[in-house]
Formats: sequence, C-alpha cells, structure tokens
Amino acid sequence: MPELDIVDLSMRFDLPNGTSVQALQDVSLSLKEGELVSVLGPSGCGKTTLLNIVAGFLAPTSGRIELNGHLVKGPDAERGMVFQKGALFEWMNVRENVDFGPRMKGMPKAERDKISDHLLEVVGLQDFKEKAVYELSGGMQQRVALARCLANEPDVILMDEPLGALDALTREKMQGLVLKLWKETGKTIILITHSVEEALLLGERLIVMAPRPGRIHKEYNLPFAER
Ligand code: ADP
Ligand code: ADP
Repeated sequence: MPELDIVDLSMRFDLPNGTSVQALQDVSLSLKEGELVSVLGPSGCGKTTLLNIVAGFLAPTSGRIELNGHLVKGPDAERGMVFQKGALFEWMNVRENVDFGPRMKGMPKAERDKISDHLLEVVGLQDFKEKAVYELSGGMQQRVALARCLANEPDVILMDEPLGALDALTREKMQGLVLKLWKETGKTIILITHSVEEALLLGERLIVMAPRPGRIHKEYNLPFAER
C-alpha cells in the first residue's frame, strides 16, 4: 500500500467580488503506509479544503499529491472519502449503497453480495441490509458510509469529520469502530476532526492547523492509538 505525500499545497479561492481567500499555504505532509493521522484545527483553517484536494475533488493553486511517488490528479478508487454526513444514496437500501462501487466495476452479484455481507457484519449492520437508508439512525448511516468506502478497497481513506454530526454516545461507539477498522484493514487514514479528544484518541500522529492562511502549526506523535 502506498505512501501518501502532500507536497507544498497552497490554495487560494478567488471570490466574485475581486477579493480572495488564502485557504492553504505551503502545506506538506507525508503519511506512511497504514498510518493514522488526525488533523485538528479551528473552523476555517482549511481542513476540508486540504482533504478535498487530497481526494482529487479540488485542484490546488500550487503543489501536488503523490501516491507512492506517482503524481495523482482527480478522484480515483485509491482514495476513498467518508463525509461528515454519510452522503448516502437515499433511494437505495443499505446493501445497494455498500454495493455501489463494486456494481459500477461490473462485479458479478454473488461476489458483490459476499463483500457487502462481510462489510455489513464488520460494521454491525448485518440485520439491516434491506433497510432504506432513511430508516436508520445517524450512527448507523455513518456505519453504512464506512462500509461503502471500504467496498471500493481504497488504499487511503479520507474522513472529513465523519462523527461530527453524531451525539456523544454514538460518537464514542463509532470511534471504537474506526479504530477497529484501522487495525484490521491496515489502511492509511487521514481523519479530520474539531474534537481534541477524538484527535488524541484516533491518531498515531496529530497535525494541528492554524488559520489565515491555513497551514500546519504543529505536529505531535501520539501514544494512544496502537495497532
Ligand atoms: P475548515 O474545514 O477547516 O473549516 P475550509 O477548508 O472549509 O476550513 O475553509 C478554509 C477557508 O477557505 C475558509 O476561509 C473558507 O471560507 C474558504 N473556502 C472554502 N471553500 C471555499 C470556496 N469554495 N470558495 C471560497 N472560499 C472557500
Ligand atoms: P448507533 O450508535 O449505531 O447510532 P443508536 O444508538 O442510534 O445506534 O441505536 C442503537 C441500536 O438501536 C442500533 O444498533 C439498532 O440496533 C437500533 N436502532 C436504532 N435506530 C434504529 C432504527 N431507526 N430502526 C431500527 N433499529 C434501530
């Protein structure tokens, strides 16, 4: 699995009124294979912008993203995103959501079912496969989002405050699940959060960002998350 290199990223948004926002300035960060890095910072410091650039949804003003030494541009299956709110397909049931990536790849149904059965068991939703997404609680929807992301077999998982919209108890349960997934799958993960506690719990390394312009303020190695 690849190493992810974020090299000298800067992002300026030019606004229609002629002014501009320097959302990121010279952000560089390297993740080793299987590393779990949490990114913490105040609102507006460029966390989401950073993740969107790494995911390939947004082209930076300057700088580049490399996977295993190869320049990557635009989204692809190697980088999977989990959003704050699952961004699930409301008109599909749970299995169809998890199934989406493999289905697009033309994988036969029997094989897809095996994958979604397994992943829905991993996230504890084996009894909810045929439920509509809107019938599920917020925490359950985020579990579907995790399973859907994993079904695409990304090497790098990008999480943009995946637990931010959940109540405290559900959030705590989900933190355990994210750790379990990280330990079991060996994925490289960037987790964005504005919860200090979550950043401490769910990172091997903590990146603290500062705003105006968004940049890396400090890095810490953390002792809490262990494989
Ligand atoms: P965070 O996720 O840390 O809250 P964002 O990445 O959302 O920060 O935003 C960083 C800065 O860039 C903010 O000042 C925000 O207003 C600005 N910004 C983000 N996206 C856009 C955009 N599409 N157009 C203009 N400004 C933007
Ligand atoms: P989570 O922590 O996954 O969000 P909740 O605390 O919301 O879960 O709910 C706990 C349990 O209650 C769930 O694992 C599920 O078994 C059940 N549950 C919650 N919401 C629903 C629902 N809308 N329909 C059926 N069962 C539900």
